[in-house]
Amino acid sequence: MTLHTAQLRARLGSGEHRELWAEVEAAAAHTGRPLGVTEHMLGLMDWSSLEGCPIRRQLLPLHSELEPDHPLCRHDPLGEACGQVVPGLVRRYPDRALLLSTSRCPVYCAFCTRSWAVGPRREAGTRQRWELALGALAADRSILDVTVSGGDVWRLAAGDLGWLVQRLLELPGIERIRLATRGLVADPAHLERGPLLDTLATLASRARERGVRLALHVHLNHPRELGREAQGAAASLVHAGLTLRSQTVLLRGVNDEPQALLALVKATVKAGISPYYVYNADMAPGAEHLRTSLAAAAELEKQLRGHTAGFDLPTFVCDVQGGGGKRQLHSWERYDREWGLAVFRSPVVDPERLFLHADPLRDLAPDVQRGWLEYDSRLARIESALRSVHCPPSAG
Ligand code: SF4
Repeated sequence: MTLHTAQLRARLGSGEHRELWAEVEAAAAHTGRPLGVTEHMLGLMDWSSLEGCPIRRQLLPLHSELEPDHPLCRHDPLGEACGQVVPGLVRRYPDRALLLSTSRCPVYCAFCTRSWAVGPRREAGTRQRWELALGALAADRSILDVTVSGGDVWRLAAGDLGWLVQRLLELPGIERIRLATRGLVADPAHLERGPLLDTLATLASRARERGVRLALHVHLNHPRELGREAQGAAASLVHAGLTLRSQTVLLRGVNDEPQALLALVKATVKAGISPYYVYNADMAPGAEHLRTSLAAAAELEKQLRGHTAGFDLPTFVCDVQGGGGKRQLHSWERYDREWGLAVFRSPVVDPERLFLHADPLRDLAPDVQRGWLEYDSRLARIESALRSVHCPPSAG
């Protein structure tokens, strides 16, 4: 069960945590992001030291820890809203599509890149809406791979999830289906409480019969998220025939230390989940305090490599702003470390276009921070970075 603002206020708004709660409400009012935490995630928080708790930092941000947004932050950093071919179906790569199945999540993360689309007050997914996406997929035989995300598939009724995935399985040409969820770690008991596990087991079996690869992509960010309950849920899913892969967002004060990240990778592998991606956090508003620089991410990757087998290590990526897609972290065309400004190409998405990514201002010298805040000086620096890559002039 997800506790939203009113329930959280009843739980935290009086007594020893009332000052912290006042900070949480002030942060939510400032960022406009929804609040929602499961009982399970509340149980993973360190209640004797909530301020420094890595689980609290992800879900209940404090007003005092917020930082001003970088001038390049965007409400929809990945340009998904305008990349929809029909409502709820995003097309970026030639052979893949993203189906936004619901606006609901078991928890609402302080760094979510899709805050433009998720929240308890937004319209939930409906079969009628999904029909539009299914129709577009049926009409376009070039799409081989569909990621069903949201929001979070864990919040779909099992019958609806079964219906949707079955319809995808019936589309000729679909070779891969991925179901994206944070629910496995945010509310692992949900798997066994109702028919979800049976539904997923049935879908896995039908997918195998049709030669379609069905996988669950699990969003997890801290080793504490893989406790006994989440491990049990992961084991049940593996037993049911699902492939599990991890997706982690690199977050300052949560997993940006080599030991924390290594512990997460090891716990992930032990739980039967293949480490897949570590994302540099997107440039979403209200999340600046959690972002890390590309240089810091590259250093973390360096520290991690060699600690375990290469096939058990995630790939570090930057999902570049404006819809360039995931680029391997080190694949920048140019990285101006003084201004923390990187330029990427994404030839498959658009060979003519350049995509930008910027480090958090806090990591830059004070005069450079001031430079970013002045329109003319930041424009000059951006233009200079783009020119230096010798590419036609448009930029995301
Ligand atoms: S669970 Fe995923 S979609 Fe939902 S708020 Fe967190 S990051 Fe965003």
